[in-house]
Amino acid sequence: MTEYSRLLIKVNNADNVAVALMDIAENTEVLSGIFTRSTIPQAHKIALTDIAAGDSIVRYGTVLGYAKDFIPKGSWINENMIILPPSPELDNLKWGTDLVPAEDLPYPPRTTWMGYKNAQGFAGTRNILAISTTVQCTAGVINAAIKRIRSELLPKYPNVENVIAVNHTYGCGVAINAPEAKVPIRIIKNLIRHPNFGGEIMLIGLGCEKLTYDMLLSPEEITPENVLTLQDFSGHDIMMKAILDMAENKLRRLNARKREPLPLSELIIGLQCGGSDAFSGLTANPSAGYASDMLVRGGATVLFSEVTEVRDGVQYLAARTRDKETCMRLAEEMRWYDDYLKAAGVGRDANPTPGNKKGGLSNIVEKAMGSIAKSGRAPIEEVLSPGERPTKRGLIYAATPASDFVCGTSQLASGIGLQVFMTGRGTPYGLEALPVIKVCSRNEMKKQWFDLIDFNAGVVATGEKTISEAGTELFNLILDIAEGKKKTYSEEYGFYNDLCVFNPAPIT
Ligand code: CA
Repeated sequence: MTEYSRLLIKVNNADNVAVALMDIAENTEVLSGIFTRSTIPQAHKIALTDIAAGDSIVRYGTVLGYAKDFIPKGSWINENMIILPPSPELDNLKWGTDLVPAEDLPYPPRTTWMGYKNAQGFAGTRNILAISTTVQCTAGVINAAIKRIRSELLPKYPNVENVIAVNHTYGCGVAINAPEAKVPIRIIKNLIRHPNFGGEIMLIGLGCEKLTYDMLLSPEEITPENVLTLQDFSGHDIMMKAILDMAENKLRRLNARKREPLPLSELIIGLQCGGSDAFSGLTANPSAGYASDMLVRGGATVLFSEVTEVRDGVQYLAARTRDKETCMRLAEEMRWYDDYLKAAGVGRDANPTPGNKKGGLSNIVEKAMGSIAKSGRAPIEEVLSPGERPTKRGLIYAATPASDFVCGTSQLASGIGLQVFMTGRGTPYGLEALPVIKVCSRNEMKKQWFDLIDFNAGVVATGEKTISEAGTELFNLILDIAEGKKKTYSEEYGFYNDLCVFNPAPIT
């Protein structure tokens, strides 16, 4: 990243636009001989040269699109002035041309953390009793039971940090045999087994739903200790007592879990963004990318996702896949999403959001380039479908929709113990099953939401910190929060969003 002037920031020498570091008044000389032709809002783009109609508009060294009409230098460039280029093709992606060796990634300042080891898979960052369900019909009962468990039982088991519902809207009234039903079923199956739940299964069904226990559990797991069917009980009091007894048995076992020192290879985290702006790709995402590279170098596993937000930079990701098979899996996930959008009659211009545009992100190419920055430079070891569990360690591309809740729920199903969430516009988003660290892209955002945003990367834009300094601090914060030494603001306030299981199959 080049710091360009007091007012502007430019990323790549090939760029013919720069981004305003603050609101700039009309007729300000931003660079020698370049005067603003109008007010330029913070985070928005300004033309550094005259750009003829049809010429490329270049940021991050990448063509964002083509000028609809002549753009004189000093102009504010907004989304209405850019023609979107076609998506990068998927048939001949080149793999393995940009594999950064491990020794070139930054070495982490710490290589151990305190986590909850599990018999299988990654370690947990929290110790939680989860009450899962096969169907939405049970949600009210589960929520009421949780209230009682929290007040009557939880205080007796001090090593258990919380009891939560894994509620969802799937399970009945759905085309359970549709080919794509495998997606929500896989997500729910893996949510039940999240590393923070310590391998304790507590699954509540109604009794007449389409999603049955055998679709989620192995035959040995379907026991009275693990599953409970509401229609088997006569009346409220007996039903509630059965749920509380079941919960107490699980709490007793979970209470034996203790944090222990673990290598970073036991840690898995996820990255996503929401409410991005043009600063996200300059500050928050590159800082997260640096922290991610440190985690990967130390042996941890890092997931990044959001298909529509990487689709337009897929060639850069393909170059970082280690082998042909991984590259083809990447292309396959992108193609699936292209078809999914096409079937619904929408294009990739369905993203960005109005808030993104207000934040200076003109189109999906610009958003993608900023979004990819969060994945750092490490090679991509594996590509997953939504909610799949990784079989490898290191940096992993886990395909999911970009919707914050759908991505969050899918990454949770993939087993992440913590999520780092980059935002430019601000969001109180949080999930109850794991800590979500909110990283903002601008100092103004941190100033406004000083007690809602966990980490401010805006200092990178103002030159107060370098990306490596901010990235190292973020790495340390990730470990402090993973091991429970610190809590996120959303945990402190109890700001939790509902889970949203991705269901690309029909509702009936
Ligand atoms: Ca998102």
